[in-house]
Amino acid sequence: MKPTQQLQILKDIIGIPSENQNEAAVADYIEQLFTPFSNVQIDRLTYAPGRDNIMVTVGNGQPTLVLTGHMDTVKAGDLKKWTSDPFQAEVRNGKLYGRGASDMKSGLAAIIVTLLEIVQSGKPVTGTIKLIGTVGEETGEYGAAQVTKAGWLDGADAVIIAEPNSGFHEITYTAKGVIDYRVTSKGKSAHSARPHLGINAIDKLLLFYQRMQTAMQQFDQVDPVLGEVVHNVTLIKGGEQVNTIPEDASLMGNIRTIPIYPNQMFYDVIEGLIEDLNQDPTTDLKLEYSFPEEAVPGRSDSPLMKLAQTVYEDLFGFIPEPVGAVSANEAAEFVHAQGDFDIIDFGPGSETSHAIDEYVPVSDYQKAIAFYHAFIQAFFTKE
Ligand SMILES: [Zn+2]
Repeated sequence: MKPTQQLQILKDIIGIPSENQNEAAVADYIEQLFTPFSNVQIDRLTYAPGRDNIMVTVGNGQPTLVLTGHMDTVKAGDLKKWTSDPFQAEVRNGKLYGRGASDMKSGLAAIIVTLLEIVQSGKPVTGTIKLIGTVGEETGEYGAAQVTKAGWLDGADAVIIAEPNSGFHEITYTAKGVIDYRVTSKGKSAHSARPHLGINAIDKLLLFYQRMQTAMQQFDQVDPVLGEVVHNVTLIKGGEQVNTIPEDASLMGNIRTIPIYPNQMFYDVIEGLIEDLNQDPTTDLKLEYSFPEEAVPGRSDSPLMKLAQTVYEDLFGFIPEPVGAVSANEAAEFVHAQGDFDIIDFGPGSETSHAIDEYVPVSDYQKAIAFYHAFIQAFFTKE
């Protein structure tokens, strides 16, 4: 494939808006690229209308290499703030701009192009390559959870997630987990001149807030790569008007966890606090979580990491550094698949993920394609 054709595939995918939804249109595009070839199997798994995960399988038998990326993006935001249309990718000064250019349509396009070129070459694969495109990564990683449950990653020997790495020179192998929670407080409204007739929902909620801040201090161990546990209350709502005792109040908190502490330890603390406060008959606190993810410990010296480093060094002359991710990624779901495999996150991108004027350097997109080709070559010859 010529570089212009490789770039066109990326432009085409950016041209299909998939802002937190509509991934089926991206899956359709991927499917039509591969349908002309008879030695390719295509599977789809619907999450919701207009939201399909897709898997393209080439070859059969062991070993199995999984290349994966999510097909959704965050919202483009205020279109007027973009220098060019976020859904009409434009190259300026060697950078390709558009929503998802970094996170992560360039990584997705790079693995698509790589696999397509392998299929077009007609050379047989001595094992299996699976390309998996997922839905809903940005809003809870439920696509990754769904495909894992469906067995799409079972029996894998190695998994590469083509998530962006700014500069394309650091390989992520470990990641923080995340717990988003909401606490709602139910009180009783009354005239603020007669507060004894009501129950102040904000007072009750703030009791939880204070106790929670103190309780979190027990998680004081530090991960050498990922750093410390982080907890922030990020959203708070309550009350109706200034002269009414508030009947409702709620807050949302966000915890970024590290592998030393399984999520269950945090659940126990939060649930224990709520139970304790609810002993008071005038307190009515309720707790919910949304899409929590465990931290991923990973291994910095896994055979997968070593192979990726060797391949990269042969191509570009230096060894990429193993690093950790401070936000959760789909590896947290993929680790639940059957089998014994390591996972790395490595793809092209920039610091502009989720931002206005998101871009990927065109040269990093091309480096990624070269890397995936060389990696696949090395992976299947070493076995
Ligand atoms: Zn991403």
